[in-house]
Amino acid sequence: MYPRLIVDKEKYRHNLQKLKDLCDPAGLSFMAVTKVFRAAEPLVEIINEEAPGFIADSRVENLQKMQTDLPKVLLRLPSVHAADAVVEAADISLNSEVETIHRLDAAAEKLGITHGVILMVDIGDLREGVYYQEDVPSLAKEIDAMQHIRFEGIGTNLTCYGGVLPTRETLGRLDRIKDDIETTLGRKLAVVSGGNSSHLHLLMQERSIGSFDNLRIGEALALGRETAYGEILTGFHDDVFVLEADVIEIKDKPSLPEGKIGMAAFGRKPKFIDKGIMRRAILGIGEQDVVPGDLQPIDDLDLLGSSSDHLIADVSRMKNLRVGSVVSFKPTYGGLLSLMTSDYVVKAYV
Ligand SMILES: *Cc1c(COP(=O)(O)O)cnc(C)c1O
Repeated sequence: MYPRLIVDKEKYRHNLQKLKDLCDPAGLSFMAVTKVFRAAEPLVEIINEEAPGFIADSRVENLQKMQTDLPKVLLRLPSVHAADAVVEAADISLNSEVETIHRLDAAAEKLGITHGVILMVDIGDLREGVYYQEDVPSLAKEIDAMQHIRFEGIGTNLTCYGGVLPTRETLGRLDRIKDDIETTLGRKLAVVSGGNSSHLHLLMQERSIGSFDNLRIGEALALGRETAYGEILTGFHDDVFVLEADVIEIKDKPSLPEGKIGMAAFGRKPKFIDKGIMRRAILGIGEQDVVPGDLQPIDDLDLLGSSSDHLIADVSRMKNLRVGSVVSFKPTYGGLLSLMTSDYVVKAYV
């Protein structure tokens, strides 16, 4: 059945091993982040076998279903309404609100457990975290005093909302906060967690990153790219995930629609370039599954447009294509996220 997403488990394993090779010499552990593939079981099994320091996801639901002995980390700030579920599903969560941490403390007490907390510090990207100019050490002290909370350490996130790059200068802000907290608490922090795949560029260039001892990596493992500049990481596979879609119509038609032009699907007002008569294929996949801008064709074709259930392609250069032929694409991060989320796309683990 098509469309289907081919998932190559051994290529994913290879990327895990390459990341380990990169992190080990720099004294870094990493969290394998599973959210982009919704913690799909076959890949979680590979993570279990390769055993990084932690496994992490942004959704409580994904953590709940995960079978693993690795420490489970919740990446998205917990909802106060889900405190019970959070302490049950996750060993550690990333947090920035003391009020929420009090709720987690109470929930952990009910279960008779302790829950680990990493306090997020915002060093300029303006997504989650306590702003770095606030009194972070006092907050750390308050959290550390909670009976059923283990204050694991601090973390930061970059290149997410603001696109702020991890540079020595930006990361230095976290180093100073770490030192202040350690002085206030009178002990070393167990975890200083840097950001995401955007840190790998700096790590590859300089072989170390500030005072971090941990990174949280999703995209680099899934797509083989760092996210500061979007470069392919040498030695990593960029085709762990390949989308296959089949041709449901193929015909020679003009490239310009004929008639007075109004609105197209999704209220868009389309623009067209006249390229004369063109070999056009309709693929049996649409925007309910993925938007065309999130697909990079592996075959020699150009995507022209889409509606809910169709992608239309210029296949003039593919002479042998016929009805039922299959074409392939590499998805972007956003593409992978939506393909994994679509029930209409078959997932084939090989
Ligand atoms: C998703 C996420 C990551 C991983 O980001 P990638 O760019 O996929 O490596 C790290 N930290 C947090 C808080 C996240 O939500």
